[in-house]
Order: sequence, then structure tokens, then C-alpha cells
Amino acid sequence: MKIEKLIRKNILGLQPYSSARDEYKELEKEMVFLDANESPHENGVNRYPDPQQTSVKKELSKFKKINESNILLGNGSDEVLDLLFRVFCEPKVDNVITLPPTYGMYKVLANINNVEEREVLLTKDFEPSVKKILETADKNSKILFLCSPNNPTGNSFSKESVEVLLKLFNGIVVLDEAYIDFSAQDSWLKRLNEFPNLVITQTFSKAYGMAGVRLGICYASEEIIKVLNKIKPPYNVNELTQKCALKRFLKIDDLRADIKKILKERVRLIEGLKDISFVEKVYPTDANFVLVKVDDAAKRYQQLIEKGIVIRNRTTQPLCENTLRLTVGTKRETKLLIKALSEI
Ligand SMILES: *Cc1c(COP(=O)(O)O)cnc(C)c1O
Repeated sequence: MKIEKLIRKNILGLQPYSSARDEYKELEKEMVFLDANESPHENGVNRYPDPQQTSVKKELSKFKKINESNILLGNGSDEVLDLLFRVFCEPKVDNVITLPPTYGMYKVLANINNVEEREVLLTKDFEPSVKKILETADKNSKILFLCSPNNPTGNSFSKESVEVLLKLFNGIVVLDEAYIDFSAQDSWLKRLNEFPNLVITQTFSKAYGMAGVRLGICYASEEIIKVLNKIKPPYNVNELTQKCALKRFLKIDDLRADIKKILKERVRLIEGLKDISFVEKVYPTDANFVLVKVDDAAKRYQQLIEKGIVIRNRTTQPLCENTLRLTVGTKRETKLLIKALSEI
């Protein structure tokens, strides 16, 4: 597959903005910088941040065992997803395919970018309908969004289906792995080199516990990363965010321990839910949340609000009638939730 053919013509020909800081990165310590109209008074943030986030990428590269040249960082994965739309999708001409019930941002971003969104529902088991997806695609289908583990259903897609789609879909396959660090399944990162059209997104917002700093990750071929770099705002990841992320990597064992704690708590939550009379089904989960089917989602949602607990009602999503999505919290929060549900 020729990736270049999928890229919008105006993006291919684009001359990107270049900052002087891009050119002299290595010599930073020895140079006097009077190029960017910054303040010379040191306060920790008086300089523009590294546009390439070199230090963060170095740590991430070690942690995920992937080359730095295959990484792009963004202001949350939402920015990364938006960049993908802008590189590959010509407004009013191209289309993308999403698989509801899934993450709502794909559709919103399609609408913002004036790109047609074609929906192919997941099966009853929340798996991709491979045949229907391929039938729905045409020559203008540029991106297929696969969210695995999927939000809000919690399951990971079968490896076989994902592989077939990677091979037969004639466009970019974005695999959103926001929840991969909670999953029993392997990331597709290991196989990035096998599929030129594979783009993987991950985030610091969930397992890394850093939703507040807004840091999203994109892994792809060097060719794709180069084009994304061309169009990203030069200073899209701020200095405080880069510092915070580096600090997190310094205590990588804490990060791993935090994930383990959440997985343990997930077991406790699922056990507790099984004793609640109006919970009809607890769906299997590979993420830090659990989807449950209840008798009356709107009513149960409201009753929990009255007890001071906010969860997500997913009943309006296709295939999700009367479902609620519960995030795994602390041990104390699980206790409060189960107690509230029992009292109801
Ligand atoms: C939470 C979530 C994200 C994270 O988005 P950020 O902008 O990085 O916070 C991405 N994809 C899915 C499916 C999510 O649920």
C-alpha cells in the first residue's frame, strides 16, 4: 500500500513552520538564544518547550521498546486523532469508518473536519463485523477507527479480525489503545513494522494517571510520523507537561504498582456487582471500567446521583440499552458504590 497516495495533496506540498529551536537543539547549553522573543529571566518556563519532546520520547521509547522516530506526542490523544483527520481526510470528499458503540470523539472530529462518518455496528458480542466494514469502504474511505479495548464495552477485539482488517482495508487503520495497559492482550505495537497502514494511539490519561497534563501518543511508521510532525502546532506539548511526564518515568515502578492496584480493585468491583439484584449482566472487561446491564439505566443512574455517585449512563448507545459504565476507583470508592447499589 502506498501511504503517500492517502495523504491530502495540500499536506504533501506543505512547507511547515520552522522554529530556530528545531535547528540548534544539540548545542542548547553553549548557545545564547535571542531568537524567539522570550524573556531572559529564568523561572522554569520562560523558554518555549522542546517542540520534539526529545526527553519524553527517549523514556517512552525505552518503556515501550519502540524507536523514537516512530513516536509523535500530542495535547491528549484527541489532538493526535484530529491531526490524523487533517492529514488524510479531504473535507466533503473522503470518509472514515467507525464501529459503534465506541468512543464519541471519532464522530465529533469527523463533524468538525466536515468528513463523512460511516458507521458499522459491532456484533452482539461487540466484535467488528469484518465483512460489513469492507463492504462499506470505498476508494474515499481513508481511516478505520478500531478501539481496543473498546470504550464503552470494555472488551478487546479478536486478533484475527484486526489482522484481516489491517490487511484488507485500503486506508489507515487507527487502533486506539487508550486502555491497553489494563489489558490481558498484547499491544499491536510489537507488530507496527508489519503493517504500513497501522497507526496506534495511546494516552497518559488512563493507566498512567495523568489526565490533567493532556499527553497523547501516536505510534506509526516513520513516513506517517513525518507528515504528522509537519502539521502539528510547533509547541503542542507544553513544558510543564513534559516535566511531569519525565517525573512519572523516573518512578516507573510506582506506575506499574498503580495499574496492579486498579486491576485488583476491578476484580472486587465485579464480585460486588454480582450480588446486586437489578444488575442483569456484567460484561467482560479489559479496561479500568465495567459495563453492566441493569433493569432501568435512567432510574438507577438517578438514584446513584442522589447518593452522590456519578457514573455514565450508556443507554442511548446502540447495543447498549439499559447499560451503565462504571470506572474502577479506590477500595473505598468501590465500597461506597456497592453499598449505595445494595441500598437502592
Ligand atoms: C479516554 C480515552 C482517550 C483519551 O483521550 P485523551 O485526549 O488522551 O485524554 C482516547 N481514546 C479513548 C477510547 C478513550 O476512552
